[in-house]
Amino acid sequence: MNQRNEPTFRESVDLMFNRAVALMDLPPGLEEKIRVCNATYTVRFGVRLRGQIQTFTGYRSVHSEHMEPVKGGIRFAMGVNQDEVEALAALMTYKCALVETPFGGSKGGLRIDPRQYDEHELEQITRRFAYELAKRDLINPSQNVPAPDMGTGEREMAWIADQYARMNTTDINARACVTGKPLNAGGIAGRVEATGRGVQYALREFFRHPEDVARSGLSGSLDGKRVIVQGLGNVGYHAAKFLAEEDGAIITGIIERDGALFNPNGLDVEAVFNWIRGRGGVTGFPDAAHTAEGAAVLEEECDILIPAALEGVINLNNAERIKAPLIIEAANGPITAGADDILRARGTVIIPDMYANAGGVTVSYFEWVKNLSHIRFGRMQRRQEEARHQLVVDELERLDRYLGDAWSMSPDFKKKYLRGAGELELVRSGLDDTMRTAYQSMHEVWHERDDVDDLRTAAYLVSINKVAASYRAKGL
Ligand code: NAD
Repeated sequence: MNQRNEPTFRESVDLMFNRAVALMDLPPGLEEKIRVCNATYTVRFGVRLRGQIQTFTGYRSVHSEHMEPVKGGIRFAMGVNQDEVEALAALMTYKCALVETPFGGSKGGLRIDPRQYDEHELEQITRRFAYELAKRDLINPSQNVPAPDMGTGEREMAWIADQYARMNTTDINARACVTGKPLNAGGIAGRVEATGRGVQYALREFFRHPEDVARSGLSGSLDGKRVIVQGLGNVGYHAAKFLAEEDGAIITGIIERDGALFNPNGLDVEAVFNWIRGRGGVTGFPDAAHTAEGAAVLEEECDILIPAALEGVINLNNAERIKAPLIIEAANGPITAGADDILRARGTVIIPDMYANAGGVTVSYFEWVKNLSHIRFGRMQRRQEEARHQLVVDELERLDRYLGDAWSMSPDFKKKYLRGAGELELVRSGLDDTMRTAYQSMHEVWHERDDVDDLRTAAYLVSINKVAASYRAKGL
């Protein structure tokens, strides 16, 4: 991505950070302390595979320990390197502060193409990587708690949790060493969909503010908005699916590794997702135009662009040609600092990554709390809540009988009102609340300060202030 002398990903994050701190009044020492990455551990380890030893390189970076544990995903991809892991760890610090999850920022990565290995091989590699990190407390329920990211998911998290438990047989909180686990291994309902769900909630909240929508030149609601998504993986798939199925958005473009699909009348997200699963890519999918030059579709006309794959995809080479008036950064760092300058100058509204994809870490926080409390959310109160609601329904039914034809309960009321919230409802409610509250904090800064003209700077101001307050409280 580093064409036309663009800064690296980490430098790009630092440039955006610098733009924000220039508007603040922090002591220079504290500013530097917050910006720098505390430590990055590099490990090279061998695994015997297919009759010979293969060496892998992995990283775990800790950006800020103003709160512990530190938190951040583990990525499996060939592009993983120290600069990328450090940039992602920094973004985790700011993200956690913005959405008020009580964590410092961290990130991990393994340089590997997971598609080149079968399940058993991947398990061996993942367990060995987890062993290397756990023995240095870089996986630990009270110090460092990883989660899924690109190329990893529930399966890898279950292996990591099990590896940690084998190494710490008496740790009663062992399951809290990693989040994003399957439900039967200590996970939480709604974690797999969480990041995509958070993107949906972020957009809903944006559209609840007509004055913000107007700044992008759009109007109305999400209904009927044309959306292009890059990357139909965990984040992109869930975001696109929910926006289409629940908000009436029309997914006109889907960009994947092997090109892009385009259909102005809307693509069936579920069908495309199943096609990719079965054939490894979008090529050949019926009912859509296919172009091999996928990235070109980023430049197509649409209302909302959702980059949900990798960093640096909107850069100095294509920023001028991006037509979407609203971009929501579902991926981390999809817009370089240079491209951000160009788009801001053009009036494009960007909902920044540290907010847009915070749904994952938010629900990870709920999972970690669930693991530490050793009880499923809702278990104690659900039936009690239902019993209390039953009292109201009984009274209403009495009134119904008394009033005869003059009044009756709406048909669905009883069923809906009686149902107490289970874990999934509670998780979604907590996530929705988090996304709304965080948006409002950015919105306030965006509108109240004349020197802030974009949501990213507003997000940095809110989060840096919180990190600074933590450091101050510690006496630093
Ligand atoms: P994933 O591996 O599930 O999906 C990534 C998708 O992008 C895949 O479908 C892949 O084929 C596609 N892709 C890869 N290279 C591409 C290219 N050059 N062009 C188009 N598509 C390409 O990963 P994910 O977990 O969905 O993560 C995506 C982004 O979201 C990353 O930036 C990640 O850091 C960020 N993120 C993920 C989570 C999470 O909970 N998983 C949370 C926060 C942020």
